[in-house]
Amino acid sequence: MGELSSPAKVKEILSRHNFHTKKSLGQNFLIDGNIINKIINTAEITEQDMAVEIGPGIGVLTSSIAQKAQKVLAVEIDNKLRPVLAETLEPYNNAKVVFADAMDTNFDQLVYDNSGGKFGADVGKYKLVANLPYYITTPIIMHLLTNKFNLHSLVVMVQKEVGMRMAASPGTKVYGSLSVAVQYYTEAEVAFKVPKTVFYPKPDVDSVIVRLKVRDKPPVQVSDEELYFKVVRAAFNQRRKTLLNALSGSNIALDKEQWINILQSVNIDPKRRGETLDLKEFALIADNINKYY
Ligand code: SAM
Repeated sequence: MGELSSPAKVKEILSRHNFHTKKSLGQNFLIDGNIINKIINTAEITEQDMAVEIGPGIGVLTSSIAQKAQKVLAVEIDNKLRPVLAETLEPYNNAKVVFADAMDTNFDQLVYDNSGGKFGADVGKYKLVANLPYYITTPIIMHLLTNKFNLHSLVVMVQKEVGMRMAASPGTKVYGSLSVAVQYYTEAEVAFKVPKTVFYPKPDVDSVIVRLKVRDKPPVQVSDEELYFKVVRAAFNQRRKTLLNALSGSNIALDKEQWINILQSVNIDPKRRGETLDLKEFALIADNINKYY
């Protein structure tokens, strides 16, 4: 595995194709076979698996996935990588690249269209593996999770700070609305840290691999998901304020008195800060709002 991934080989391919990496597309390519092996092992890809990748770049991760999975479908936005990927993925007839914006991609449809009927009318669960473009990490993760695509798990390279936020516990400095959103849909953990030196070009930030195992159902049941996330965003919007002040200053049209009643009815101290609440406490608040709305 990882034959494509030595620094010399990556540079040789890029130079032969006269390809210049674009910072605006988050093009930092992996040049380290060990890290690629660790990513593949973390994703636990087997020959039964349908795998999906976002941003194959020159195909170093894609080719390693193809060696393990039944099939890999990769979505790449940059058309200029077409000739490069045609060359690097030529040996793998179970790897296919679709040139599109991942943000506009319906991944269930993509898998269905490329599964040759094997996954039936109901798309089987598939595994996402990606070294994500950092400029859109959060929107991509939210696109994948809120659309409830039939993912088994996501093993993704992200900026270290973003990965820490995804997996953070209540009461910690980095716990925020991203933590709640990601943990509502998945069991999230930081799998391992990745040094800057394994990328070409070298990025300005440190990275981690996070493993997000998609839950069969959320850990809390709420009657209105949209309202739930409105409450979460409101609570974190002004972190230095008390929960009561943050909620009363939000776009949820309730007055202070009503918020006090709601918080008291669910035994949550209005003087607490939003970042101390867990997913269940946010659910209690959201589910009691309709009594006052
Ligand atoms: N997988 C390769 C690797 O590990 O070496 C490349 C990873 S690089 C960090 C991110 C890749 O995502 C680039 O190839 C970039 O062109 C692609 N990309 C950026 N924005 C995208 C989008 N909206 N949809 C699909 N791919 C995108």
